[in-house]
Amino acid sequence: MAVPNVFNDTQNVGHFIGGRRVPGDSGRLQAVYNPATGATARQVALGSVDEVNQAVAAAVAAAPSWADTPPIRRARIMNKFLQLMNEHKDTLAAMITAEHGKVFTDAQGEVERGIDIIEFACGIPQLLKGDYTEQVSTGMDNWTVRQPLGVVAGITPFNFPCMVPCWMFPLAIATGNTFVLKPSERDPSASLFMAELFTQAGLPDGVFNVVQGDKLAVDTLLEHPQVKAISFVGSTPIAHYIHERGSHFGKRVQALGGAKNHLVVMPDADLERTVDALVGAAYGSAGERCMAISVAVLVGDTGDKIVPLLAERAKNLKIRNGMELDAEMGPVVTKQALERIEGYIGAGIEEGARLVVDGRGCSVPGHENGFFTGGTLFDHVTPQMRIYKEEIFGPVLSCVRVKDLAEAVQLINDHEFGNGVSCFTSDGNVAREFTRRVEIGMVGINVPIPVPMAWQGFGGWKKSLFGDMHVYGEEGVRFYTRQKSVMQRWPQSIGKGAEFVMPTAK
Ligand code: NAD
Repeated sequence: MAVPNVFNDTQNVGHFIGGRRVPGDSGRLQAVYNPATGATARQVALGSVDEVNQAVAAAVAAAPSWADTPPIRRARIMNKFLQLMNEHKDTLAAMITAEHGKVFTDAQGEVERGIDIIEFACGIPQLLKGDYTEQVSTGMDNWTVRQPLGVVAGITPFNFPCMVPCWMFPLAIATGNTFVLKPSERDPSASLFMAELFTQAGLPDGVFNVVQGDKLAVDTLLEHPQVKAISFVGSTPIAHYIHERGSHFGKRVQALGGAKNHLVVMPDADLERTVDALVGAAYGSAGERCMAISVAVLVGDTGDKIVPLLAERAKNLKIRNGMELDAEMGPVVTKQALERIEGYIGAGIEEGARLVVDGRGCSVPGHENGFFTGGTLFDHVTPQMRIYKEEIFGPVLSCVRVKDLAEAVQLINDHEFGNGVSCFTSDGNVAREFTRRVEIGMVGINVPIPVPMAWQGFGGWKKSLFGDMHVYGEEGVRFYTRQKSVMQRWPQSIGKGAEFVMPTAK
């Protein structure tokens, strides 16, 4: 199998408004890199206030008739979109590798997980069924319906340019809203491609719009009176800002933030499988996953056994251009990301952690200017160190040693982030206790990256999520709709005379 060549020009990346590509004429451009070579591959047009307003206007215009379209007809278009996404999934994966850098096989996995949510959204007629109670009073019935909010917006991070937008727009659109997506400016092409496929599937113009951009575009969406809800995924400081600012303007907001995910290794864990899990979860996608494992919590005597095995694997990772099919780890997204990650490695050494494997200075033959760093492994990391407290978002695994399960759980619960966590053990009671006591939104038992399936919903706790509702699953349906309760009776059963007391069932 060969990776498809998806970019045969260096055209600027623009917007998708009202059912067609729009070049973007703000005059503000930002470089999009090929992270494997370090070269500028193309430029993305950063949207102006006017361009965001045009996208919202297109979504406003499309909203009434889309909301009136019967759910089964919306589901048919979604089904056609699902089919097109399946047909073009390798093209999309290659597009992701070209701009993000993650290895192609991993990009394929990302696209699959995005497609899962589109498939879930195809069941929207069933998901929108309300509750009905007959005869709440004599001759009177009461039921609930869920109606769309209108225009909703999504703001997404660089690390999943297909999957994270798919956490949002398929359900938002299936529930009858129209959508404006502001993708990451670092890998902007995947969202345009998906918008074109959706239009090809029969989606009316203006239902799904994409505006490229930076803070200016985001702030314009946050302040826009016609945007009724914002879904955000990105780093914690921006998530916090989005939640505060969006709420200030009266919007419904869900804002998912950063993470520091721990994997606890109990003394009874299967060592070989645990090492496999840790290596994949720490170094896969060069650690640029919100569910990456960045801390191994080594309980009892596991440290001395597992650290040498991890070191061996970290040293021998196949680091290559992500387009090469045997690559295990590709480059990180930008030179700034590389410098930030390697800066953290320096800080870890200064703070006294033991550097077991140093990934800095990694050079890939033929790709000397690519943004590559190797897998890094630290041992004897303590909770006071910056490399423990802060999200590095790179291929750096920190090992912390603790005496028992209680200390492991306390350590994790004291951390400000609460996205994902995992425990490797062969003891059912340990697994159960861990699951009950840990203050984290998504838990894996012998599963290193417990990303919930499309129908379950995804979300962290603490500073990993601001807002009440998780993304996708039934929580997603609730987020993008508002409940209306209806009580009804007909003249034959209406009593005579005005009532001045609180009505009760009669
Ligand atoms: P980021 O916060 O820099 O950017 C996310 C989005 O916000 C982008 O669209 C960006 O254009 C916009 N943005 C950036 N700065 C802004 C500002 N000052 N004002 C308004 N908007 C701004 O995040 P990133 O670097 O693209 O992505 C990596 C981060 O996302 C990591 O922290 C990772 O943990 C997090 N993430 C979290 C989840 C989750 O489910 N919790 C999933 C994926 C990624």
